[in-house]
Amino acid sequence: MKVNIKLLYDEVSKCVYCGFCEAVCPTINLGTHRGYGPRGRVNLIKDVLENKIITEEFLASIYSCLLCDACYIVCPAKIDTGRIVRDMRSIIRSEYNSDKNEKIIIKER
Ligand code: SF4
Ligand code: SF4
Repeated sequence: MKVNIKLLYDEVSKCVYCGFCEAVCPTINLGTHRGYGPRGRVNLIKDVLENKIITEEFLASIYSCLLCDACYIVCPAKIDTGRIVRDMRSIIRSEYNSDKNEKIIIKER
């Protein structure tokens, strides 16, 4: 099933940067930047949807999420980060060619 880019963008745009989600995320300390936590994932996805460029840093953020939904329970904006991450993985699978080792453009739908 194709991901609706507009709905995805609307959802990540609801983040109010409160950081409540970071306190419950089991992966927040795995890496050296906030992309290993839900607030970082949500806002990196927003940035990728705006700028249409996927980086190695972004891939590490998206593929380190455990999809545990702990962040969703505490998020005041009710952002479903696990589902958003799954949607982003689906987009990456369909549009990112890692063999070419190049940044890609996400097509508008
Ligand atoms: S679903 Fe992902 S971002 Fe949310 S708490 Fe779990 S590991 Fe962290
Ligand atoms: S709890 Fe929700 S609104 Fe707050 S920073 Fe995390 S994702 Fe954004």
